[in-house]
Amino acid sequence: MTEPSMIDLRSDTVTRPTPAMRRAMAEADVGDDVYGEDPTVNLLERRAAEIFGKEAALFVATGTMGNTVAVKAHTTHGQEVICEARSHVFNYELAMIAWFSGCVARPVEGADGILHWEQIEPFVRPLGPHWAPTGLISLENTHNMRGGAVTPKKVIDDICDRAHERKLPVHLDGARVFNAATALGLRVAELCDKVDTVMFCLSKGLGAPAGSMVAGPAETIDRARLYRKRLGGGMRQAGVLAAPGLIALEEMSKRLAIDHENARFLAEGLSRIPGIAIRPESVRTNIVIFNVSGTGMTSYELSGSLKSRGVLANGVNPAHMRMVTHFDVDRASCERALQVMEEVVCRTAAAVRA
Ligand SMILES: *Cc1c(COP(=O)(O)O)cnc(C)c1O
Repeated sequence: MTEPSMIDLRSDTVTRPTPAMRRAMAEADVGDDVYGEDPTVNLLERRAAEIFGKEAALFVATGTMGNTVAVKAHTTHGQEVICEARSHVFNYELAMIAWFSGCVARPVEGADGILHWEQIEPFVRPLGPHWAPTGLISLENTHNMRGGAVTPKKVIDDICDRAHERKLPVHLDGARVFNAATALGLRVAELCDKVDTVMFCLSKGLGAPAGSMVAGPAETIDRARLYRKRLGGGMRQAGVLAAPGLIALEEMSKRLAIDHENARFLAEGLSRIPGIAIRPESVRTNIVIFNVSGTGMTSYELSGSLKSRGVLANGVNPAHMRMVTHFDVDRASCERALQVMEEVVCRTAAAVRA
C-alpha cells in the first residue's frame, strides 16, 4: 500500500472507496447475479441504462472486460475494428480485439487524439479479394494518452451518422465519459446519444473500488452478458461491488469539475518550470501529459526523484510524463506536487551546470 502521505498522481484508478461507499458495501442487498437475482446489481444496471438513455446496461469487472464484450458483440471473426492510434483498446488491452474477437485493429491517427469522419472514411472497407471488412468503429472519449482530450458531440454524431449509413456500429470507450460530459457541459445521455454502445469505468474518477458498465441496445447487452460469462465475469453476489458503484454513478459523477480545475492548475504550474513543456489551455479534463525532455532527465528518472520526495507520477515514454487528478488529491496536494517538481528539476539543472 502507498503511504497515506504520498501524493498519488499516477492515475484516477488509485482512489479509495469513500466512507459512504464502505457503508453501502456492508449493507448491500445481494443475490446470485448469474441467476439475475442480485437486486443491487440489477438496480445499478437499470440506473446506468437510464442515465445513458440506452435500453440496457451490464456490470463488468473492468473496463477492459467491458470493451472486450462490446467489441465481440458487434463483430465477427476476420473483421477490422477502426480505432485511434493511441487508443486504450489498441495499446493497453493485451490485443483482446484479436485474442477474443478474432478481429484486426486498424489504428488511425487522429489529431490530438480526436478522430473525425474524414480520417476514418479511407479505412472503411468492404469485403474484397484482399481486404478484411470493417466491422466496428471504436472511439475514446476522453482520450487517455492524448492528455484527456475531449471529442465534441458534433464530431461523434457525425461519425455515427456516416457509420450507420454504412450499417457500421460505433462503440465508445468512455472509461472517462463523465469527464468528457462535464467538460462539454452535457449530460452523458446527450453525448452518447448516437453511439451504439458505451463502456464507462466506475473505478476511475468516479471512485468505486472496482467495476465498469456497458450500456446499449437490450439485444446487444444480452449477448454481451454471455461473453462476460465466457470471460469468467459472472460474479455472483456482486451487489457488494455494485453498491459503491451506484454511489459513484449517482454522486461522484457530479464533482469532476473540481478535478479538472486542479489539473489545469497543475498544468499552469508545470508550464512555469524550466525544461517542462505543456500548453495549459489544452488541459480540459483530469489528465495532464507534459514533455520533460528539457529538464535533462527522462520521465523515468524524474519519476524516481519525485517518489523519494513523496509524489507519485509515471512516465508514459522517456520524454513524457502523466499526472492525473482525482478526489484523493486536493488543491494543496497539487501545490505541494508542483513545489517538489520544481525542486527536483532545478536541483538537476544546477548539478548539470556545476
Ligand atoms: C482505464 C481505461 C480502460 C479500462 O481499464 P481497466 O483497467 O481494464 O478497468 C479502458 N479505456 C480507457 C481509455 C482507459 O483509460
